[in-house]
Amino acid sequence: MSSSLKITDVRTIVTCPGRNFVLLKIVTESGLYGVGDGTLNGRELAVAETLREYITPLLIGRDADQIEDIWQSLFRGTYWRGGPVLNTALAAVDVALWDLKGRRAGLPVYSLLGGRTRTGALCYAHAAGETIEETTDRATVLMERGFRVVRVQTAIPGTSGTYGTAAGSVQPEDGPLVEQFEPAPYLRTIPRLFDHLRAQLGEEVELCHDVHERLTPIQAARLAKELEPHHLFFLEDPLRPEHPESFRLIRQHSTTPLAMGELFTSRWDCLPLLTEQLIDFIRCDLVHTGGITEGRKIAAIAESFQVQTAWHGPPDISPIGHAANVHLDLATANFGVQEWVEHPPEVADVIHGGPTYHDGYLNVSDAPGLGCEIDEQAAKKYPYIRGWLPVTRRADGSVHDW
Ligand SMILES: [Mg+2]
Repeated sequence: MSSSLKITDVRTIVTCPGRNFVLLKIVTESGLYGVGDGTLNGRELAVAETLREYITPLLIGRDADQIEDIWQSLFRGTYWRGGPVLNTALAAVDVALWDLKGRRAGLPVYSLLGGRTRTGALCYAHAAGETIEETTDRATVLMERGFRVVRVQTAIPGTSGTYGTAAGSVQPEDGPLVEQFEPAPYLRTIPRLFDHLRAQLGEEVELCHDVHERLTPIQAARLAKELEPHHLFFLEDPLRPEHPESFRLIRQHSTTPLAMGELFTSRWDCLPLLTEQLIDFIRCDLVHTGGITEGRKIAAIAESFQVQTAWHGPPDISPIGHAANVHLDLATANFGVQEWVEHPPEVADVIHGGPTYHDGYLNVSDAPGLGCEIDEQAAKKYPYIRGWLPVTRRADGSVHDW
């Protein structure tokens, strides 16, 4: 190993510039470094402790060039493997090592991954409202900004706090917000939302909707069938992740394109959906699935079955995680679309760089690596604030999937 590539310092940085982020900086003997993202929304400190106590000692002295071997040694070599906490910590290391390799080579990460296959990454943003009309107005604003693809969510009448609407995105410090879900009004409202959207916005805009794993297989089949005339770009995460074979039932009844994956943490979780062609878009979160190394393998399996990628791009991963998405998007032949959100302005105090939006597409600079820097002094100005994910209950008080 060149002494310049010997890992001598691994710094885990927990910061909250409007959102909690767990960031990682891997430094080598020569001062060459890379940055990664290990943010797991609502479980941030579990990942930070894993990185500090269990992973950092295994990295000190390793050759930063050996991304694949370090990945295998942290995933299989430590015996306890998988799950969101361990695979988010693994992703932080993996993304930092790809960034470091790019800086060393003087090349952007997409170039190391095979080079550009496209001029930009088609992206979508979120339109949500308390009423169908408000959701439509917000979608119109996004279309005026150039978005060709829009995700639409609307509050469900008769329930309180609907996932993906404005009131549902609050993260209180003192305990989880309780949202309510009832399938009957939900299944009545969403087709009406799409009736209204198509009447007002026309056929050209591509529309997605996120079910957030809340339906049973037969309910999801009904919704996908009823939405067929509206030609969705995709229906996202209709079912819980534990039994992917359930997607067969939806497939038997509908040609509405399906997307799934943000609760998956490895390529093996994705396999039945890909090999049986039960979905059209695989949308794992690179930050929760072992990083760029695992993402490119998932993309390669998906390519074999004509499934496209749509990596998860929520506000709770940092611009470093979003940069990893876009570098992989640009280099992936079977890329489909990229979810994207704008972070609060304070985020730019702590993390410089990240993808830029222009006229419906995302892009990254040609800077070596991912094109992101962490201002560690600025990060200290924004200490961690505990934030809870909401929980969902039915009208009778029983637990439902959030
Ligand atoms: Mg989602």
